[in-house]
Amino acid sequence: MGLCPFHDDHEPSLVVDVKKQLWNCLGACREGGDVYRFVMKADGVDFWEAHRRLGGHEAETKSVGVAEQQWLERAVDHYHARLLETLAAQDYLRLRGITAAEFVTSFRVGYPDGSWPRSCRQKEGAPYGVLEC
Ligand SMILES: [Zn+2]
Repeated sequence: MGLCPFHDDHEPSLVVDVKKQLWNCLGACREGGDVYRFVMKADGVDFWEAHRRLGGHEAETKSVGVAEQQWLERAVDHYHARLLETLAAQDYLRLRGITAAEFVTSFRVGYPDGSWPRSCRQKEGAPYGVLEC
């Protein structure tokens, strides 16, 4: 337990679970999350800057074709919708300290429940990710 840096805290209300690498304020602000969320909030930076400050490397960039990008967008939309429809998945996020709705929506967090339509399959001879549905 420690003083929460995100509200005017006089009684220690910040709980840190070192093993799970999660933190949560039980006081006035009720903030919480993982190490990235902490750095983002404490330093007022976005995810990638927090990643860099935590010693992470720049993300590798690889250009993808239009068809691959469209397929990825469809998969992200599909699994994000599954998360929004599945209370058990939302409970799991809360358990992991992911409580900010804007985080879930801005990063389009998904629930990969294996529900991708069986009718969508890799098109034979096509680049990876190009599907027939
Ligand atoms: Zn707090």
